[in-house]
Amino acid sequence: MPMKFRISSEYGVLEEIRGGRVHKGIDLAMPPGTELHSIADGTIEKVINNKLMGNGVYVRAENGDVHVYGHLDKVAVKPGDHVDAGDLIALSGNTGHSTGPHLHFALLHDGYVADPTPLVNAVQHYSGEIAGPSFLGIKGPALFIAEKVPHSIGDAVKDQVAHSLAAHALDWLQAASIVFYELGLVACTALIILGAVGLKNGYRWAGMTFISVALLRYLLGGVAE
Ligand SMILES: [Zn+2]
Repeated sequence: MPMKFRISSEYGVLEEIRGGRVHKGIDLAMPPGTELHSIADGTIEKVINNKLMGNGVYVRAENGDVHVYGHLDKVAVKPGDHVDAGDLIALSGNTGHSTGPHLHFALLHDGYVADPTPLVNAVQHYSGEIAGPSFLGIKGPALFIAEKVPHSIGDAVKDQVAHSLAAHALDWLQAASIVFYELGLVACTALIILGAVGLKNGYRWAGMTFISVALLRYLLGGVAE
């Protein structure tokens, strides 16, 4: 079965980032905002936020095991909620003690940490779509381009391409809108000067240029950070 998300850290490994402690789960590299769905019917046992795991969700499956999801961005459930397999529980993120966007997935069996490796295929299967706005069809074109990638490259690569394109397309557009905005301001200034020295409609063109670039920037949500 092709892996949608690369395993960036296996269960049980010793890692410097963790101060040499044993890794109590499995890390799956994925773009922030990836939808995470419960892999089993169960109940939300708790929703946490701490320095280590960031936002975390504990799902008690009907067999008694607890599935732990960490470093989440947005959490879509609250304690006591019933979930069916496939229900959205959160969007993946990069919160807590994390070196990059990924999902930390862990298993508690009879209250003790257990190896979640046998569940990774289910996590891969149920996790997927990039969440967030499909504003201006940004999600659409990214997935369309991904469809054009030859099948010989494989579904896993195709999914990775689709996910990273969707994740970055909005960033690129926002960056572009800021550049347009700044160029627009330069053009405005030039048109005002030309208007002052007698260019017909110079002021009007300056006003229209400003409104256009300001609107574009507002629509794309480009905010300088
Ligand atoms: Zn981890």
